[in-house]
Amino acid sequence: MREQQFDVPVPEQLGEGLVSIRQGSDLAIDVRLESVHEGILATAEVDATAEGECGRCLIDIALPVRVEFQELFAYHSGEAFEYEVQDDHVDLEPLIRDAAVLALPFQPVCRPDCPGLDPETGQRLADHPELVTPVENDPRWAALAGFTASEDEGADAASDADQQRD
Ligand SMILES: [Zn+2]
Repeated sequence: MREQQFDVPVPEQLGEGLVSIRQGSDLAIDVRLESVHEGILATAEVDATAEGECGRCLIDIALPVRVEFQELFAYHSGEAFEYEVQDDHVDLEPLIRDAAVLALPFQPVCRPDCPGLDPETGQRLADHPELVTPVENDPRWAALAGFTASEDEGADAASDADQQRD
């Protein structure tokens, strides 16, 4: 058995979504290689940092990403095994790439309860909890000011009548 730990700079960006593992950032790889009857069993843990934008409020975020996998590299090609030992080497790169991309969140958030953006001003609500009262709008949106929402339709006077009960 052989264990190795090394850092590898990412040769090209991993992932295409809101967050990705950027080119040049480090992958911390911890791999254990075991000799087994059919070949070499590779067990790896990979730590990386995904960077991008919060899916709700669009601020820059960095998220830790950890992936683990185990794969057998066979000495001889065959239908049973997808990966092969080649020239006394195992090529972990495609495994690491696939596992890392799959581990990236589709809807990354800066925090689980991120309130997102104010629909009128576009400001980040987490920074402006007081945004209940409207602030001055961007003048470029002034033309839309005439399009007010129709009368409140959520008023449910009926439920008030039911509240007086013992
Ligand atoms: Zn956010």
